[in-house]
Amino acid sequence: MEISFYNSLSKKVEKFSPVLTDEVKMYSCGPTVYNYAHIGNMRAFLFADLLQRVLRTVGKYEVKWVMNITDIDDKTIRDSRIGSDAWLSEMGSQTESELDNLKVLTEFYQDAFLDDISKLGINLEHFFALPAATDFIEEMQDLIRKIIDNGFAYISGGSVYFDVSKWRTADTYGKLFKIDFDNFKSGVRIDADEYERENVSDFVLWKEKKENEPFWDFEINGLNLPGRPGWHIECSAMEYELLGLPFDIHTGGVDLKFPHHEDEIAQSKAGYGCEPTNYWLHNDFLEVEGEKMSKSAGNFFTVRDLLDKGIDPIDIRFAMLSAHYRTKLNFTFAGVDAQKKARRRIQEYIWQLADNNKFGELTANAEKLREDTFNELANDLHTPKALAHIFSFINNNDAEKLNLQSKSELLSFFEQLNSIFEAFSFEPKPDATSQIPDSIVNLAQERWDAKRSKDFAKADEIRKKLESEGWIIKDARDGYEIFTKE
Ligand code: AMP
Ligand code: ZN
Repeated sequence: MEISFYNSLSKKVEKFSPVLTDEVKMYSCGPTVYNYAHIGNMRAFLFADLLQRVLRTVGKYEVKWVMNITDIDDKTIRDSRIGSDAWLSEMGSQTESELDNLKVLTEFYQDAFLDDISKLGINLEHFFALPAATDFIEEMQDLIRKIIDNGFAYISGGSVYFDVSKWRTADTYGKLFKIDFDNFKSGVRIDADEYERENVSDFVLWKEKKENEPFWDFEINGLNLPGRPGWHIECSAMEYELLGLPFDIHTGGVDLKFPHHEDEIAQSKAGYGCEPTNYWLHNDFLEVEGEKMSKSAGNFFTVRDLLDKGIDPIDIRFAMLSAHYRTKLNFTFAGVDAQKKARRRIQEYIWQLADNNKFGELTANAEKLREDTFNELANDLHTPKALAHIFSFINNNDAEKLNLQSKSELLSFFEQLNSIFEAFSFEPKPDATSQIPDSIVNLAQERWDAKRSKDFAKADEIRKKLESEGWIIKDARDGYEIFTKE
């Protein structure tokens, strides 16, 4: 099926055609692993996941999906610094080596990230690579050398900067984002990884070593410039090494258009002579209860925060996928609850389809439903319209009145749909009393043992975990019972 996307480069919906006929190479800007990712970040990753699943299932492409792990930037350095308040006791003791400390902190949060996205239904086997920036320092240095050799970067102090004025004589700077050049001061340099468009200026490719920061030697033009890469160069080098240029699709949140993606385009073209990608796709932001998420507003949530509140991670996934990726998503607890009911409605229908004991004589057109639904997904990933087809179908076709042939065709359609949504079960409907999974039974026993040995903190922690997975424990005097939450 033909697929179209809104390309931030052309600012229109375009027919998608990859460089190779049957394989799509796709790069997603990944997390900066200095803390637990928040649910706004998760929207960006779930959008990328939706995209790659639609390419596989609807477009029938092979997908080579790369998501980088930013383990060196201003924030990871700040939080791994010796004596940092952000250092957790679970990470063990800090050492004298800044690089070791950086590795420990970032690997800790990388593990947490992989765990979180797996809970949200992202299949780690779908990644071609999850490269950490610190494993590609030499490749970044090679790119910086190329940009200098081509005349678009210069050394100042111990750092290297991209020369924006020079670049503007060769190509456009501002392909994704309208940049404010009114205040542009040629030759002004900026060292921060993130900055506003009013501050557009020469951005840093390589930052001079500062005291108590991890660093790498960098031999260039007979000089050694000990330091570390800027954030933007990381993605440019990893894309080139892992996918080659141009690859097909680059994703990220809208906030990354400037400066991160704009700088990526300039660097790659100035160094490798080629823009990174043909299609740039950006997801809009997630807000919480109508407001920008922020720690100070008290509406800042990580996935773990929501699981602690007993929310099923797949309800979070479904709620996020139910909104179109280019609209703002207002995340509310009432909204998640409504989406949970919607997901349950589809799940019940799947169980009815699978129940061969209840059937009738009516027929239904599974092929038409597939076409209607997949057409919406193929048209710039329109999940809300795709789901509207599903609900209207469910409301008009009582599963128990359909003949067995139609039921089976519909069931295979829903299985295919689930390879995109990853939100439904095709196991038999659990019987509320007898179908408690072994893992839950074991956890409940572990909790009971902890409680009896008066380790209430542990017992409480396990209870919360069970709740987050949808199970409630009720204690009696000398035992306990396990219930589902419903
Ligand atoms: P970071 O770890 O800050 O580099 O961000 C990882 C990804 O999350 C990037 O693609 C960001 O654009 C995206 N992102 C950050 N905040 C939000 C938000 N509130 N809603 C949607 N995407 C976001
Ligand atoms: Zn990036």
